Amino acid sequence: MSNPNQRGFQTETRLSEELRLIPRWAIAGALLAFALTQYYFWIVLPAHRHHPSSLPVALRFYLILSWGALAALYVLMIGYITNDAPRRGMSTRLWIICVVLPGAVGAVLYFLLRQPILATCPACGAHVESDYHYCPQCAYQVAACCTKCYRSARITDIYCVHCGHDLTADHPPTRLHAFSG
Ligand SMILES: [Zn+2]
Ligand SMILES: [Zn+2]
Repeated sequence: MSNPNQRGFQTETRLSEELRLIPRWAIAGALLAFALTQYYFWIVLPAHRHHPSSLPVALRFYLILSWGALAALYVLMIGYITNDAPRRGMSTRLWIICVVLPGAVGAVLYFLLRQPILATCPACGAHVESDYHYCPQCAYQVAACCTKCYRSARITDIYCVHCGHDLTADHPPTRLHAFSG
Protein backbone atom coordinates (compact mmCIF):
# COMPACT_ATOMS: atom_id res chain seq x y z
CA MET A 1 0.00 0.00 0.00
CA SER A 2 1.49 3.31 -0.98
CA ASN A 3 -0.31 6.25 0.51
CA PRO A 4 0.32 9.75 -0.82
CA ASN A 5 1.06 11.06 2.68
CA GLN A 6 4.07 8.84 2.99
CA ARG A 7 5.36 9.90 -0.40
CA GLY A 8 4.95 13.53 0.65
CA PHE A 9 6.95 12.78 3.77
CA GLN A 10 9.73 11.18 1.73
CA THR A 11 9.97 14.19 -0.59
CA GLU A 12 10.15 16.38 2.47
CA THR A 13 13.01 14.36 3.95
CA ARG A 14 14.88 14.49 0.64
CA LEU A 15 14.44 18.26 0.52
CA SER A 16 15.70 18.69 4.08
CA GLU A 17 18.69 16.50 3.21
CA GLU A 18 19.40 18.78 0.25
CA LEU A 19 19.02 21.86 2.44
CA ARG A 20 21.53 20.42 4.89
CA LEU A 21 24.12 20.75 2.10
CA ILE A 22 24.00 24.52 2.48
CA PRO A 23 27.01 25.48 4.61
CA ARG A 24 26.69 27.87 7.57
CA TRP A 25 28.79 30.56 5.93
CA ALA A 26 26.25 30.66 3.08
CA ILE A 27 23.36 31.15 5.50
CA ALA A 28 25.28 33.96 7.23
CA GLY A 29 26.19 35.39 3.82
CA ALA A 30 22.55 35.25 2.71
CA LEU A 31 21.41 37.17 5.80
CA LEU A 32 24.15 39.72 5.19
CA ALA A 33 23.19 40.05 1.51
CA PHE A 34 19.58 40.62 2.51
CA ALA A 35 20.55 43.23 5.09
CA LEU A 36 22.88 45.00 2.65
CA THR A 37 20.26 45.24 -0.11
CA GLN A 38 17.76 46.64 2.41
CA TYR A 39 20.33 49.15 3.62
CA TYR A 40 21.17 50.18 0.05
CA PHE A 41 17.60 50.61 -1.20
CA TRP A 42 16.14 52.22 1.94
CA ILE A 43 19.04 54.41 3.09
CA VAL A 44 21.82 54.87 0.51
CA LEU A 45 19.71 55.21 -2.65
CA PRO A 46 17.11 57.74 -1.36
CA ALA A 47 19.95 59.95 -0.03
CA HIS A 48 21.50 60.19 -3.52
CA ARG A 49 18.24 60.73 -5.33
CA HIS A 50 17.16 64.28 -6.17
CA HIS A 51 13.50 63.45 -6.75
CA PRO A 52 11.67 61.17 -4.36
CA SER A 53 10.57 57.89 -5.92
CA SER A 54 7.19 58.09 -7.63
CA LEU A 55 6.36 54.43 -6.84
CA PRO A 56 3.68 53.79 -4.20
CA VAL A 57 5.18 52.81 -0.84
CA ALA A 58 3.59 49.33 -0.85
CA LEU A 59 5.05 48.53 -4.27
CA ARG A 60 8.45 49.90 -3.28
CA PHE A 61 8.35 47.79 -0.13
CA TYR A 62 7.51 44.70 -2.17
CA LEU A 63 10.22 45.33 -4.79
CA ILE A 64 12.96 46.00 -2.25
CA LEU A 65 12.06 42.91 -0.21
CA SER A 66 12.12 40.86 -3.43
CA TRP A 67 15.58 42.15 -4.35
CA GLY A 68 16.77 41.25 -0.86
CA ALA A 69 15.30 37.75 -1.07
CA LEU A 70 16.85 37.27 -4.53
CA ALA A 71 20.30 38.31 -3.29
CA ALA A 72 19.98 35.98 -0.28
CA LEU A 73 18.86 33.08 -2.48
CA TYR A 74 21.82 33.63 -4.76
CA VAL A 75 24.29 33.31 -1.88
CA LEU A 76 22.50 30.19 -0.59
CA MET A 77 22.69 28.64 -4.08
CA ILE A 78 26.43 29.25 -4.30
CA GLY A 79 26.81 27.57 -0.90
CA TYR A 80 24.71 24.63 -2.05
CA ILE A 81 26.75 24.17 -5.24
CA THR A 82 30.06 24.12 -3.34
CA ASN A 83 28.82 21.00 -1.54
CA ASP A 84 26.69 19.51 -4.30
CA ALA A 85 29.25 19.63 -7.15
CA PRO A 86 31.89 17.38 -5.44
CA ARG A 87 29.40 14.59 -4.71
CA ARG A 88 28.56 14.57 -8.42
CA GLY A 89 32.21 14.53 -9.48
CA MET A 90 31.90 18.02 -11.00
CA SER A 91 34.43 20.82 -10.75
CA THR A 92 33.32 23.15 -7.94
CA ARG A 93 35.57 26.04 -8.97
CA LEU A 94 34.43 25.97 -12.60
CA TRP A 95 30.75 25.97 -11.65
CA ILE A 96 31.07 28.72 -9.07
CA ILE A 97 32.71 30.89 -11.74
CA CYS A 98 29.91 29.98 -14.18
CA VAL A 99 27.19 30.82 -11.69
CA VAL A 100 28.74 34.10 -10.55
CA LEU A 101 29.75 35.52 -13.94
CA PRO A 102 26.74 35.59 -16.29
CA GLY A 103 24.11 35.92 -13.58
CA ALA A 104 21.25 33.47 -13.32
CA VAL A 105 22.06 31.71 -16.62
CA GLY A 106 24.97 29.79 -15.07
CA ALA A 107 22.78 28.64 -12.18
CA VAL A 108 20.08 27.36 -14.55
CA LEU A 109 22.76 25.57 -16.60
CA TYR A 110 24.14 23.96 -13.44
CA PHE A 111 20.81 22.42 -12.50
CA LEU A 112 20.23 21.27 -16.11
CA LEU A 113 23.68 19.76 -16.65
CA ARG A 114 24.58 18.37 -13.24
CA GLN A 115 25.67 14.74 -13.14
CA PRO A 116 23.96 12.04 -11.07
CA ILE A 117 25.16 11.66 -7.47
CA LEU A 118 28.11 9.32 -7.17
CA ALA A 119 28.01 6.43 -4.74
CA THR A 120 31.07 4.65 -3.41
CA CYS A 121 31.96 1.00 -3.99
CA PRO A 122 31.60 -0.90 -0.68
CA ALA A 123 34.67 -2.99 -1.53
CA CYS A 124 37.27 -0.43 -2.65
CA GLY A 125 35.67 3.00 -2.14
CA ALA A 126 35.85 4.04 -5.82
CA HIS A 127 33.10 6.31 -7.20
CA VAL A 128 30.31 4.41 -8.94
CA GLU A 129 27.40 6.00 -10.82
CA SER A 130 23.81 4.96 -10.18
CA ASP A 131 23.49 2.95 -13.43
CA TYR A 132 26.65 0.85 -12.94
CA HIS A 133 26.37 -2.89 -12.34
CA TYR A 134 30.03 -3.44 -11.47
CA CYS A 135 32.65 -1.25 -9.87
CA PRO A 136 35.01 0.04 -12.60
CA GLN A 137 38.02 -0.38 -10.29
CA CYS A 138 37.57 -3.78 -8.61
CA ALA A 139 34.62 -5.46 -10.42
CA TYR A 140 32.59 -5.68 -7.22
CA GLN A 141 28.94 -6.17 -8.17
CA VAL A 142 27.08 -3.09 -6.95
CA ALA A 143 23.68 -3.82 -8.56
CA ALA A 144 21.80 -6.97 -9.49
CA CYS A 145 21.97 -8.04 -13.12
CA CYS A 146 21.09 -11.12 -15.16
CA THR A 147 24.06 -13.44 -15.77
CA LYS A 148 22.76 -14.33 -19.24
CA CYS A 149 21.99 -10.94 -20.84
CA TYR A 150 23.74 -8.71 -18.24
CA ARG A 151 20.87 -6.26 -18.05
CA SER A 152 19.46 -4.86 -14.78
CA ALA A 153 17.41 -7.11 -12.54
CA ARG A 154 15.62 -6.32 -9.31
CA ILE A 155 16.82 -8.35 -6.36
CA THR A 156 13.25 -9.58 -5.82
CA ASP A 157 12.85 -10.91 -9.41
CA ILE A 158 12.90 -14.66 -10.00
CA TYR A 159 13.08 -14.44 -13.81
CA CYS A 160 14.94 -11.85 -15.91
CA VAL A 161 12.41 -9.41 -17.36
CA HIS A 162 14.53 -9.01 -20.53
CA CYS A 163 15.45 -12.56 -21.52
CA GLY A 164 13.43 -14.82 -19.21
CA HIS A 165 16.52 -16.37 -17.63
CA ASP A 166 15.88 -18.12 -14.31
CA LEU A 167 17.78 -15.85 -11.89
CA THR A 168 17.62 -18.39 -9.06
CA ALA A 169 19.68 -20.76 -11.21
CA ASP A 170 22.64 -18.36 -11.10
CA HIS A 171 25.45 -19.46 -8.81
CA PRO A 172 25.23 -17.66 -6.49
CA PRO A 173 21.75 -16.36 -7.32
CA THR A 174 21.55 -12.81 -8.72
CA ARG A 175 19.28 -11.76 -5.87
CA LEU A 176 21.94 -12.68 -3.30
CA HIS A 177 24.68 -11.06 -5.35
CA ALA A 178 23.11 -7.66 -5.09
CA PHE A 179 24.41 -5.03 -2.78
CA SER A 180 21.37 -3.49 -1.15
CA GLY A 181 22.30 -0.04 -0.06
ZN1 LIG B 1 35.40 -1.27 -6.16
ZN1 LIG C 1 18.53 -11.59 -18.83
